[in-house]
Amino acid sequence: EDRIISGEADVQDTSFELSLRPQTLRQYIGQDKVKENLAVFIEAAKMRKETLDHVLLYGPPGLGKTTLAAIIANEMGVNIRTTAGPAIERPGDLAAILTALEPGDVLFIDEIHRLPRSIEEVLYPAMEDFCLDIVIGKGPGARSVRLDLPPFTLVGATTRAGSLSAPLRDRFGVMSRLEYYNESQLKEIVVRTSDILHTEIDELAAIEIARRSRGTPRIANRLLRRVRDYAQVRGDGIVYLDLASEALEMLQVDRLGLDHIDHKLLRGIIEKYRGGPVGLETISATIGEESHTIEDVYEPYLLQIGFLQRTPRGRVATSLVYEHFKMEVPSD
Ligand code: ATP
Repeated sequence: EDRIISGEADVQDTSFELSLRPQTLRQYIGQDKVKENLAVFIEAAKMRKETLDHVLLYGPPGLGKTTLAAIIANEMGVNIRTTAGPAIERPGDLAAILTALEPGDVLFIDEIHRLPRSIEEVLYPAMEDFCLDIVIGKGPGARSVRLDLPPFTLVGATTRAGSLSAPLRDRFGVMSRLEYYNESQLKEIVVRTSDILHTEIDELAAIEIARRSRGTPRIANRLLRRVRDYAQVRGDGIVYLDLASEALEMLQVDRLGLDHIDHKLLRGIIEKYRGGPVGLETISATIGEESHTIEDVYEPYLLQIGFLQRTPRGRVATSLVYEHFKMEVPSD
């Protein structure tokens, strides 16, 4: 099912987002700690005329990992090659990519936690010593040759740092966790995007969109695009607060960025399980969504805003949920 508030990219996002990508660390809004660290590491590497250490970026989808990888390459003054964990099936696929790199290049591997284990093993010596061990021939005549690679920087991105194997994790010199954006940062992103799209937007409208974007730039940009269409058709093209609110209402995204699936999930816990604790599998059966989807996609934001708590006995809906739905908190 397509959700307007999903952090995952959809087909329409792709070309639209390309034009919105900030090119430098200065243009990249928010994530101050991550930026500050990267700025120092990048400058030091450039001063020493060395490649940048391998970087792992992790955090929920849509927070700007791909964008940041491109910025790192840009700031280092090198090219970026992009691939994804599931796209590399055989060791030869990775060898082909690695041997085609120019010295200093950034290799970006999205969804790096989905690399097959056999490929990870090829990656270890490549990351550590910039070389490849390849086996030539079969059976008793087979021999292993060591191939030198150009020095490169691996930038890995993942939504689940926890599912990365320890040996792979250990080979990253820099690990940066991207956080959900706050309202004022998202507002800045909405205003910036409006600017690029030559759309006039009222400050209050930008705040309203920011508030409903679940801390996620990709969602902010997507909501803005829809609101802009609405303003075009129903108004004079300028995005005012009332138009924005109407459009967002129509998209069924509530004041906190929650949609009908969030509502079903939260109401389910409250109405069927008296607010919990209730196990993930039970929730999954109740609302008819896969448990890993709940865990990776729906839940992180609900945990972040304090609507859900994870306990050893399952998920608990907090009093904030009752307030949000204007329901009374049960007395026990
Ligand atoms: P995924 O992992 O799903 O690919 P991602 O975390 O890599 O997501 P990006 O594709 O980098 O996300 O970012 C999504 C969109 O949000 C991009 O179009 C980008 O323009 C915008 N964006 C992300 N972060 C920022 C930021 N800090 N400032 C301005 N725009 C941003």
